[in-house]
Formats: sequence, C-alpha cells, structure tokens
Amino acid sequence: MSSGMFAGTAWDREPHCERCDQVESACTCPPMESQPTWIPPEKQTARLSVEKRAKGKVATIVRGLDPTESDLVALLKQLKTTVGAGGTISDATIEVQGDQLERVRKALVALGYRVKG
Ligand SMILES: [Zn+2]
Repeated sequence: MSSGMFAGTAWDREPHCERCDQVESACTCPPMESQPTWIPPEKQTARLSVEKRAKGKVATIVRGLDPTESDLVALLKQLKTTVGAGGTISDATIEVQGDQLERVRKALVALGYRVKG
C-alpha cells in the first residue's frame, strides 16, 4: 500500500494504535502504562514563597501542584524561559533561583494557574 494516495478510506476513520498501527479494535497491544492525564492549570492552585538557601541565596518556591497530574518538567522549563533564571524540581516542588516571586506569579497566572502567596 502506498501511503498518502488513499486518504479518507474507511480504515482511516477509526483511531489507530500508535504502537502497532492497527485500528484500535484490532489492536492487541497491552494497555499503556499509566498514561498521564494532566489536570488543567485553572483547576490547580500554586502556592508561592521565597525561601533562603545556603550562602545567602534565595529561591522562589512553587508548591501545591500535583506532580503526577501536572507536567512539572514542562512548567519548570517554561518558568526558566519566562523568568530568565535557573531552576530545579525536587519532589513536588519547583524551585526557581532568586527572588522571582512576582515574575513567577505572572508567568503562572498567564498559563492559567490560580496562585496564592
Ligand atoms: Zn496496538
């Protein structure tokens, strides 16, 4: 079968398995392991604080987002870009270097999160 030539056949209307490329009704793949379902930002409340770190440094902390239901890695990446600072994730906490409270707050609000603190 050449691809692209016969777009719109009945075969294409049914969703296909991404792994075996069968239509889902014919797919025999085992179920996907815990496919993440993210909670939308507007249903989550981030709690912000600025905390002291070693050697007189401070960090802006984002808590309250469920790590299993939020894409914290993507969020941190976005925050680092928006705020222009480094950052890390430990457990369920995002930590952005420096006192970035207002910038982090604005960035989170812009993404749709509710923010406290
Ligand atoms: Zn499959």
